[in-house]
Amino acid sequence: MTIPVNVGGVWVGGNHPIAVQSMTNTDTADVAATVEQAQALALAGSELVRLTVNTREAARAVPEIVSRLRESHTTAPVIGDFHYNGHILLREYPDCARALDKYRINPGNVGMGRRHDDNFRSIIEIAVENAKPVRIGVNWGSLDQSLVTRLMDENARRPDPRESREVIMEAMVVSAIESAEMARAYGMRADRIILSAKVSGVQDLIDVYRELAARSDYALHLGLTEAGMGRGGMVRSTAALSVLLQEGIGDTIRVSLTPAPGGDRCEEVRTCQDILQSLGIRTFSPRVTACPGCGRTTSTLFQEMADDIQQYIGSQMPAWKEKYPGVENLKIAVMGCVVNGPGESKHANIGISLPGSGEEPKAPVYADGRLMTTLKGGTIVKEFIAILDEYVDRREAPGEGHKSGRILRPSPYPLPEGEDEKETECLLRLQRRKISTSTELSRSSSIVQRNI
Ligand code: SF4
Repeated sequence: MTIPVNVGGVWVGGNHPIAVQSMTNTDTADVAATVEQAQALALAGSELVRLTVNTREAARAVPEIVSRLRESHTTAPVIGDFHYNGHILLREYPDCARALDKYRINPGNVGMGRRHDDNFRSIIEIAVENAKPVRIGVNWGSLDQSLVTRLMDENARRPDPRESREVIMEAMVVSAIESAEMARAYGMRADRIILSAKVSGVQDLIDVYRELAARSDYALHLGLTEAGMGRGGMVRSTAALSVLLQEGIGDTIRVSLTPAPGGDRCEEVRTCQDILQSLGIRTFSPRVTACPGCGRTTSTLFQEMADDIQQYIGSQMPAWKEKYPGVENLKIAVMGCVVNGPGESKHANIGISLPGSGEEPKAPVYADGRLMTTLKGGTIVKEFIAILDEYVDRREAPGEGHKSGRILRPSPYPLPEGEDEKETECLLRLQRRKISTSTELSRSSSIVQRNI
């Protein structure tokens, strides 16, 4: 287990949940733009927000940015990302040093030789003075070249020299660990150190982090650097992070996506959440299970509906999370036809099975494994969203003793006249109507058996 680090009130490492983080791409000197983006990232679920502090103007802006974020009740800790001149900026702008919740230092670009040690020491001493944690973030694009040279020379003297790739990977690990030891020697506590060693290749990242985790107890910030744009960036990040997270490696994650021009920076936050939720490590939002569709569906209704519902949930989550603790565990099914629709809907907390081609134009809705109502006509989406709202309200209503997770109040959506919620009667109805697909029959037989 890694040593837990308190970053401005958010714990990273130890037994604590893996924290999601992100980084702004605004000019930090532009206070309004940076505050706006940091707010958006935090609202999307970024539990830590990093911003670059690269100039005097940026360092001067930091206290105002943090102050405005706190005034607007954005509580996410703010991390300063320093390269080359961190020792100067942090010393010249003590308000900046105080306002930040953590400093990121890249040991590969704090100077060369003796200057490297002095500059690094200077940043560490400022962090110690201000009781701030640091991330020692090695990046292979800016790896300490003197260290690489040293390890390459050592490797050349070996009787069985290793491949240069292995030496570079070793240099990443050594740079992080030696820098941490140096920080400790300058007075930094172990519970204020987080390490990272980012590379852009999936297999390289897996190798480096396995080694880093095996050789240190420091909390680890995990991320594939320069993952790229869109689907490729998401897939590469997911592939790399999933392997490591599955092995218990990584205490906080960032997905470094290149946004499309005008794209949404929050995409990297949602990708982090999706990775953690897909692995069953954390839950952030209700899961919508939608079938892929096939020749049994002749319209795009169910695709549009799945999308509408996903969008609706996304828009409601900030309010739902406040009002209905646990709502993120909800499972919602939106299915395209009778083959898997009723079954998948019954496994979900709430689900709808749309009619496939050739089926009756009806959409049964299931809640907690039971038929709740049947929707018809052109307002199915609207009605289902209303039912979903009602379901969330009744199921998660705090203080109403929903320990079993079952609906507590009577459904306001009774089945149509002549139909009953009891599954045995539902079965008889289906049989009367001669709905005889194999799926319905097998479902019917299991209902009969359970009710005998
Ligand atoms: S549930 Fe129906 S429409 Fe969806 S993929 Fe399966 S068979 Fe096709």
